Amino acid sequence: MKRLWALLLMICSVSAFAQTSALNSQVNKSADKVEEKVIAWRRDFHQHPELGNQEFRTAGIVAKHLQSLGIEVKTGVAKTGVVGILKGGKAGPVVALRADMDGLPVVERGDLPFISKVKSTFNGNEVGVMHACGHDSHVAILMGVAEVLSSMKKDLKGTIKFIFQPAEEGPPFGEEGGADLMVKEGVMQNPKVDAIFGLHIDAQTEVGKITYHPGGTMASVNDMQIIVKGRSAHGAAPWASVDPIVTAAQIINNLQTVVSRNLNVTENAGVVTIGSIHGGNRSNIIPEQVEMMGTIRALSSEDEKLLIERIKTIATKTAESSGAVAEVKIPFSVRYPVTYNDPALTEKMLPSLKNTAGADKVVLVPAETGAEDFSYFQEKSPGLYVFLGGMPKGKDPKKTASHHTPDFFIDESGFTLGVKALANLALDYMEMSVK
Ligand SMILES: [Zn+2]
Ligand SMILES: [Zn+2]
Repeated sequence: MKRLWALLLMICSVSAFAQTSALNSQVNKSADKVEEKVIAWRRDFHQHPELGNQEFRTAGIVAKHLQSLGIEVKTGVAKTGVVGILKGGKAGPVVALRADMDGLPVVERGDLPFISKVKSTFNGNEVGVMHACGHDSHVAILMGVAEVLSSMKKDLKGTIKFIFQPAEEGPPFGEEGGADLMVKEGVMQNPKVDAIFGLHIDAQTEVGKITYHPGGTMASVNDMQIIVKGRSAHGAAPWASVDPIVTAAQIINNLQTVVSRNLNVTENAGVVTIGSIHGGNRSNIIPEQVEMMGTIRALSSEDEKLLIERIKTIATKTAESSGAVAEVKIPFSVRYPVTYNDPALTEKMLPSLKNTAGADKVVLVPAETGAEDFSYFQEKSPGLYVFLGGMPKGKDPKKTASHHTPDFFIDESGFTLGVKALANLALDYMEMSVK
């Protein structure tokens, strides 16, 4: 009897595996077929980049494409965002896939036939606009995924939510936007998302590779403002002053202990940077106040709290010991949470990524101290965010132009792996959730 059960179980698992495999190869075949379209879409977006909260043209093309595939479409989400809902033929979980759509105020350099010549205004200044972070490829890849998955709609065990997000790089000054606003407008509800996947093309990772990091993969950001208030005096009579310049210098020095003496650096990295300091206007006047701005990066929410608390204590107490006052604002204007790859979800989905890319092409990498507003979605449901190779094979990553710069370059031959990876992640998650 025992043996019979074992045999039955084996047959069941083999057939489940075989079915998944058949669907996976269907995904891979469709992804290969859609490659040319994905590249063409990307070139079009590259030539017509739009800044955050102004992605009207991009959103229009996305919405039209999703509609043509029979996907239910909602536009104007968080200003220019587009959300598509694809209901599979069978019951199952809700999986969200996300692409960000915005370009950056960078003037493109080089000789691409589809180079951007677009100009726009950013925070009141005329700027060139360029897809200098590769979000054009994210949009094109997710459009490809939508085409692939909608063609196998009847076999899908659940619902896919396609999230095309505006303003990942941050909305213009004074505006709301990005993932934060999408979440506030309820993008993770109705239907409630069970898991979310996203990727970022990477100009320093070779085509064909996918890199990942479980747990905190990209840092939280908090910007800070510290105003040190003292008492002004003639520079020749410092004893009559409470010198905010000396106090600010002491605060900056003491802040160096926040990471080196408070953070368990064997667990996570952290960063405290003062990036600007302003005070005084003449050599012989001790000014009344000094203003400093800085950024704080952490890779867990506990570390984020710890760093902020220590900075506040050190700044205020150092000032107090000098007879000055430090007013500390954290965050001052920007906060992104930690981009946190749910460890259980990461482990569960690793085989899917390895089946798609090849086991040796899926590489564990250190966390990054840069940030991503994908983190807002991950606060609402478990999520996995990975990096997709976009660097031509054989190039030296140290010599390729980094993201956000005029020479930033992406090798389009990496896109199809992106389409396959996202489509298979969604499919495999559904297959694993519905027995
Ligand atoms: Zn960027
Ligand atoms: Zn980016």
